[in-house]
Amino acid sequence: MDILVIGGGGREHAICWALAKSPKADKIYCAPGNAGIGQIAELVSIQVGEFERLVAFAEEMKVGLVVVGPDDPLADGIVDAFEAKHIPVFGPRKNAAHIEGSKTFMKDLLHKYNIPTAAYEKFDNYEAALSYLHSQPVPIVIKADGLAAGKGVTVAFTREEAEDALQSIMVDKVFGESGSQVVIEEFLAGQEMSILSFVDDEVVRPMAAAQDHKQVYDNDKGPNTGGMGTYSPLPHIADRIIEEAVETIIKPTAKAMVAEGRPFRGILFAGLMITPDGKPKTIEFNARFGDPETQVVLPRLKSDLLEIFLAAVNGTLDQVEIEWSDEAAVCVVLASGGYPASYPKGLPIHGLQDVEQEQSLVFHAGTAKNAEGEWVTNGGRVLGVVGLGKDIADARDKAYATANQISFEGKHNRSDIAMKALR
Ligand code: ATP
Repeated sequence: MDILVIGGGGREHAICWALAKSPKADKIYCAPGNAGIGQIAELVSIQVGEFERLVAFAEEMKVGLVVVGPDDPLADGIVDAFEAKHIPVFGPRKNAAHIEGSKTFMKDLLHKYNIPTAAYEKFDNYEAALSYLHSQPVPIVIKADGLAAGKGVTVAFTREEAEDALQSIMVDKVFGESGSQVVIEEFLAGQEMSILSFVDDEVVRPMAAAQDHKQVYDNDKGPNTGGMGTYSPLPHIADRIIEEAVETIIKPTAKAMVAEGRPFRGILFAGLMITPDGKPKTIEFNARFGDPETQVVLPRLKSDLLEIFLAAVNGTLDQVEIEWSDEAAVCVVLASGGYPASYPKGLPIHGLQDVEQEQSLVFHAGTAKNAEGEWVTNGGRVLGVVGLGKDIADARDKAYATANQISFEGKHNRSDIAMKALR
C-alpha cells in the first residue's frame, strides 16, 4: 500500500521511519517533508495548508492511507477534505481537533464531564479578565484560546508578568484572533508527563509515557521552544499514576468527545501534571503526535504502526496488537544558535554521515542539501538524535555520544535531557 504522510519535521521523519518498517508499506510519500525524510520517502512539493492539491495528489496516486502530522491543518479541517473524497485518513476531523484548537472548548469539556484539570475562568473582555486577575494569587497561568505555535501560554510568577501577558494577548493581539478569548488558570505545581494514545471513538490504546524539555537552556531556564528533548519510559513515575491518568482523564475525554458529537480518531496527546498529592491533572490536549515525543515513543513500538493506523481507520483499534519494547529512548535536539528567536540557515552540518550506528537514530527536523549535495541547517530545530538502550542512563549516553559527533556553527543542545529520571 502507498501512504502519504503530511508534515515536514522530526515528528514526520519518525512516523515515516516507523511506517517504512511495515511489510504492508510500499511507497511512502511525504508532503512537503525535508531532506532527511527524503532518504526514506518520496518528497512531494505541496505545503500542509494546500488541501485541494494534497487531496488531488492522494487521489491521483491512489494512496491507501493518509497520515497527518501537524496541528494547523487538522484544526483547519484537512481530514474532512480527504474524507469528502473517501480517501482513508488517520487524524481527527475539524470538530474533534478543536480539543487542541480551542483551550476554552477543552476546559469547558473537562469541566462538564468532571475530568481533573486546573481551576479556570475564561474571558473575552479585557477589563473583566484584568479584574479577575487582581482577585487571584500568583503564580497564575494566562493562555490565549487558539493555536499560537506553543507560545500562547504564560506561567506568571508576578502580577506584572500576568498583566503583561494579558495585555499582549487581548489588547496588542500578538496572536491575532487566537487571543480574542483567554483562559486564566490556577497554577499547578508538580511533575509533567505526556501520554499519547491511539484513539478511535471510545477506544483508547495508550502509548508509552514520555517527558519533554520545553525551555531552551539546562535546568529549564530560558524561553520555551517547540521541545529540546524527550525520554521514555519514565522510571521515576509509578505505573499506577500512568494508569490513573488513562482511566480518569484520557478514556473519559474520548467518551466525552463522542457524547458531544465530536468523535475523536487519531492521536490524542495528553499533557499532564502529577500534583504533589500524586494525582494527575490535565494541562492540555493536543490532537496529534508530539514533536519530539514521537521520536522516543515510536522507536519503542514493537508492533506494526501501519496496522495500528489502519485498524483505527477501519474501526478495529480495540483488536490490534500494540506491544512496546523494554528499551529506553532519549532524544536530544540539536538546535541552531539563536533558536527560539531568529537563527541563520544554510550552515554546513559535519559528521552526519558517520553516525548512522546501531542503537542510535537521527531524525531530521530542519535540514536541507545545498547545491554541492552537503547537509546544511534549514530550521530552528535541526536534528533529533535518539539513543536506545537498556535503561535511561544507557540510552542517554548513546544519544549524547552521537550528538557530540555532529557539528555545525552555533549548534546548541541541552546537556541535561532525561536527568530528572536519574536524580
Ligand atoms: P504546547 O502545545 O507547545 O505544549 P500550549 O500552547 O498548548 O503548548 P500548554 O501545554 O497548555 O500550552 O502550556 C505550556 C506549558 O505551560 C506546559 O507544558 C506547562 O509547563 C505550563 N503550564 C500550562 N498550564 C499550567 C498550569 N495550570 N500550571 C502550571 N504550569 C502550566
